[in-house]
Amino acid sequence: MFKKIMIHTKRGIKFIVLFMIASFLIVGAVAFLYKPTYSVYINNEQVGYTENRTELQHKINSYIENGEDSSNVAFVQVGNLPEYKLCLLKRNVVTNDDEIFNKIKEQGVTYYRYYAITENQEEKLYVSSFEEAENVVNQLKEKNSSNIEKMSIVEKYETDLKELVSTEEAVSKLYVEAPKVIQVAQKSTGRYESTGTVNTSLTTPTAKANIGINLIRPVSGVISSRFGVRSSIRKSSHTGLDIATSAGTPIAAAASGTVTFSGYKGSFGNMLVISHGNGVQTYYCHCSKLYVSAGTQVSQGQKIAAVGSTGNSTGPHLHLEVRINGVAYNPQNYLY
Ligand SMILES: [Zn+2]
Repeated sequence: MFKKIMIHTKRGIKFIVLFMIASFLIVGAVAFLYKPTYSVYINNEQVGYTENRTELQHKINSYIENGEDSSNVAFVQVGNLPEYKLCLLKRNVVTNDDEIFNKIKEQGVTYYRYYAITENQEEKLYVSSFEEAENVVNQLKEKNSSNIEKMSIVEKYETDLKELVSTEEAVSKLYVEAPKVIQVAQKSTGRYESTGTVNTSLTTPTAKANIGINLIRPVSGVISSRFGVRSSIRKSSHTGLDIATSAGTPIAAAASGTVTFSGYKGSFGNMLVISHGNGVQTYYCHCSKLYVSAGTQVSQGQKIAAVGSTGNSTGPHLHLEVRINGVAYNPQNYLY
């Protein structure tokens, strides 16, 4: 009985040992022939295998964040990220991480971030960062560039990268010299003498610029043509506001200042310009009479001229302009 048990036990041990050896050999053989691998799918399509999922995914993440060549890339949009399924693969099957990565790149759309500097909403040039764009605008302000009020910065997210320029290049390309306001000494001679300098270039921004002073109505009457209107008698849009009233009506200075032009100026007829400081000027055109000459200090409300129809005019009216650094702004932003 005891012997029988012994035989049984011996057999049992033998069996267990054999079983262990067999298992070990099988596991060894599997480990020798196969390796744990990730089968990679993009959009449910099997595209290859990788042994190092972490490294491949890291490379893909870095591509999404930085793109290929990292200048001004905001991000990369990829349609579908890969999915990984663990499997055992024969050791001789090649993995193809590079091919998988290239498949991701093929469907990637790179978005670039950069900044446009606009003048009258038109994109003029592009710089790399917001700081640079701000720098450009500040430098133009310091140089008193006459187009500064029309400029703004727009952030761009685009799939194509425009040519980016340096701060210095941007400043020199955008700078426009402000028309010089010459302070003319008061003359004792005739009131109709053409004196001072004037800029009659035509620009009509719709924005309201802060002029820092209060303007009063130079005349009361009927508004016969508004700012910005185009008509057959003008080459471009209307740079002022027309107020129709009877000829000879006195025109009051909209604010105090120095008369910088008083005389005949082509289609503007008899024209008077008052400079109020900080680049702000008011223009009074088509006058029948001019009561003050260039260089005169005038106070707000002072009679400076009379309504007429001189120059390019079809009837008595005051053509009033508000200009800041030579740029005409809508007078109705400030009065009427
Ligand atoms: Zn007009």
